[in-house]
Amino acid sequence: MSSKEIPFGSGVEILSMFGATFSHNLPLMSPMSGESKGQVRGRDHHALASLIGRRVSIRLHEAAGGYRDLLGTLVAADQVERRDGSIVAFEPAAIFAFREVLPKSATARSLADGEKNMNEGGRGTGVSIYDTLSRQVRQIQSSDNKEVRIYCCGPTVYRDAHVGNLRTFLLTDLVRRSIEFAGFKVKVIQNITDVGHMSEDFDEDKILKESKERKRDPFEIAREYESKFHRDLALLKIKKAEHYPRASECIEMMHQHISLLMDKGLAYQGEDGSVYFSSERFESYGALSGNRLSDLKPGHRYEFTEAGAKRFHADWALWKSAGARREMIWDSPWGKGFPGWHIECSAMSLHFLNGHIDLHIGGIDLRFPHHENERAQSNPVAKDLDSTNEAVDLWLHGEHLLFEGRKMSKSAGNVVLLSDVIARGLDPLAVRFCFLENRYRSQMDLSWASITAADRLLRRWRERFANQALSTSHQPSPQATLIIDEIASDFAQDLDTPRALQRLRSLEKDDSFDETCKSEIFAIADRLLGLDLMRVDIQPKRELSQEDSGFLQARIQARASKDYAESDRLRELLAERGIEVRDELDGQVWDWK
Ligand SMILES: [Zn+2]
Repeated sequence: MSSKEIPFGSGVEILSMFGATFSHNLPLMSPMSGESKGQVRGRDHHALASLIGRRVSIRLHEAAGGYRDLLGTLVAADQVERRDGSIVAFEPAAIFAFREVLPKSATARSLADGEKNMNEGGRGTGVSIYDTLSRQVRQIQSSDNKEVRIYCCGPTVYRDAHVGNLRTFLLTDLVRRSIEFAGFKVKVIQNITDVGHMSEDFDEDKILKESKERKRDPFEIAREYESKFHRDLALLKIKKAEHYPRASECIEMMHQHISLLMDKGLAYQGEDGSVYFSSERFESYGALSGNRLSDLKPGHRYEFTEAGAKRFHADWALWKSAGARREMIWDSPWGKGFPGWHIECSAMSLHFLNGHIDLHIGGIDLRFPHHENERAQSNPVAKDLDSTNEAVDLWLHGEHLLFEGRKMSKSAGNVVLLSDVIARGLDPLAVRFCFLENRYRSQMDLSWASITAADRLLRRWRERFANQALSTSHQPSPQATLIIDEIASDFAQDLDTPRALQRLRSLEKDDSFDETCKSEIFAIADRLLGLDLMRVDIQPKRELSQEDSGFLQARIQARASKDYAESDRLRELLAERGIEVRDELDGQVWDWK
């Protein structure tokens, strides 16, 4: 949560109480107006040490008389780090009083608060995630103090995205909503791979392979699946990225990136005309995935092979020479060819996010080799653009999805698309609900039974709470604020979405909250959940007209007199009028279509 700087005297935060000497000197530090019971503060400088690592406000006696206030993170018993990074030392004996500065209530935060926080030099969003590179849960920060810059690896558009792929794309949405809820701006870039993604099994472009099999233009195929991808995101209420750059439209950008790597001696042109990254020249190769170069054996199928052309077996292609290929090729300083898969993400992320990525997101399967290679390609170039050593601050990976106990694959025949969910009459957001019920970092097993149960629960929640729609100007009650803060905090702590949903399940049954209060909590929590909980599913009540009623009667008579031609004619007529008729054992039944 973003901290708010609250000066002494405003009396709005919970304070730590230490030392019996507190009660004297009351004239200056007496209970302030608006303070409730339990809000206390401390004066014992020994006790201050317990707040190391926390944000504190300290009032010190000045030698010349009077007081001076210090605000920042306590880094030692006698040092505070200010938001601008400067360290201020103080004399512990001079402490008059101190208190911990706690995050402001989540519901009271707004975008303006986030901007204000950043203008004051704050970078942390208060939202933490597990970072694959440091193997720690770390806070997401805005490195430019304006917005949080996120890059998410997008789809290779040669087939439908299945629900497992969508789980990864949802991860970006959940992080985004958490950061925005905390009051910060977010910029998301997600690429569309429409060229250059080689199949692991054969040295063949995935899109060209599909194009050959279906005898269709490769770009036509790419556009078809690209639009399906956008449709799926919308169905899952995944917020749109700021930009979806296509690999095929960023070729020049990739050339520039490759040239920079060559200038630095990190890439070379092989005998086959292709340009390769020299993996041995990047010292910390393997830091992300744990796959050190010394462990990578030649012939291991982690990257398509280019027999003889590479200097070292773990090098990979940045630019592939066209060879016999005639489609999807471009001119380049190294001859006709096409980009390697990994280079697009390095070039696009740095280009569209202005040289630095605060958070990089992708599925766990991309950690190696895709992200490992991307890091090697990005860091040397980002160093020119940014003073930090890492082009990416945090690497976030989502786990695999199983379906009914098995890995989803075409060969296993258990690939589930969002369109399959809709075809069964289930709400696609039921899939979103199932994803939220499992932490992103654990492998989860989705099933038709769980989607169906989630669909039922969503309908129940909407029916119960959506009708009590609240006006936007409504301020949530303190009772509601408390629960919403807890839910926001679940999201902010490494996306503990199962816990957030558990709170709502408990709330639904809790008699100490009235229906209006429950509704307001569900409404505000939905900004994080994205389950469309305030949607009123209106089924317009339709009256059967006298005319239609007459047709239904006439059909019963036609069947009784075995005039099946007439009964079929009436069935078709009714169908055109939106009425579906079926003949069951105990007679004719009908329903609105
Ligand atoms: Zn990528």
